[in-house]
Amino acid sequence: MFRVMAGDGGEVTKALRAVVLKIKAATAARSPEVSEWCAVPRLVAVSKTKPKEMVIEAYLAGQRHFGENYVQELVAKAADPEILTRCPDIRWHMIGPMQSNKAKKVLSIPNLFLIETVHSAKLASLLDAIWAKAGHQHRLNIYVQVNTSEEAQKSGVAPGEVTQLTEHVINNCPNLNLLGLMTIGAYDYDLSLGPNPDFQRLLQCRDAVCAHHSLHHHQLELSMGMSADYEHAISVGSSNVRVGSVIFGSRSHEPQ
Ligand SMILES: *Cc1c(COP(=O)(O)O)cnc(C)c1O
Repeated sequence: MFRVMAGDGGEVTKALRAVVLKIKAATAARSPEVSEWCAVPRLVAVSKTKPKEMVIEAYLAGQRHFGENYVQELVAKAADPEILTRCPDIRWHMIGPMQSNKAKKVLSIPNLFLIETVHSAKLASLLDAIWAKAGHQHRLNIYVQVNTSEEAQKSGVAPGEVTQLTEHVINNCPNLNLLGLMTIGAYDYDLSLGPNPDFQRLLQCRDAVCAHHSLHHHQLELSMGMSADYEHAISVGSSNVRVGSVIFGSRSHEPQ
């Protein structure tokens, strides 16, 4: 069974350090054209299905951003008294499907940093209204999720409709801060075939959104890349990688 040895050689600590080194190397190896507009990418440690002890170990090893994609699990971990006291500076990312009836719950968790999965104008307006009512001093960070692989079972707005949604967020949702775009993409893409087409599509969406709103590339983050392909994602310009299994071990079950 897993044992926690904070900061000194626990499995999670070791795996996390290896990932951080690979992110640094992949960042340093980027072409100047990519480096020019893309800062050092943020690592989101995806802790879904994993016990809070692993979150705490990763936090003590220096990790700050964590992602969950199941509402109940996110709420439970974010409000956990031990995580609250031992991880005061933790930053939570919601990376799973957002149902309207759970939105209020998610938006009320402590240390919420970012909703990565805004896929419709209706959801954006709902989040905007909930955030306004809660009376926060700062805007709520969001990514617009794009269904780059256009698979029916994947959530996200179609690539051709991204600017329509970002326009709605910018014009009609004053309590939301459009931080970037996110994609999951098709699983099991074989990188020996060339650059992942889902990431290329997200880059094109970024270009379209930036042109539409007169933004610079560095003003719109891109969330792409998971355990299997985060180094590749960084090489083509990811600014936010979501890495789970190579840090916390493979999952015996998927939430939902
Ligand atoms: C589970 C999950 C991840 C992490 O997947 P790994 O392959 O374990 O790194 C990243 N993003 C989303 C949206 C996920 O649901």
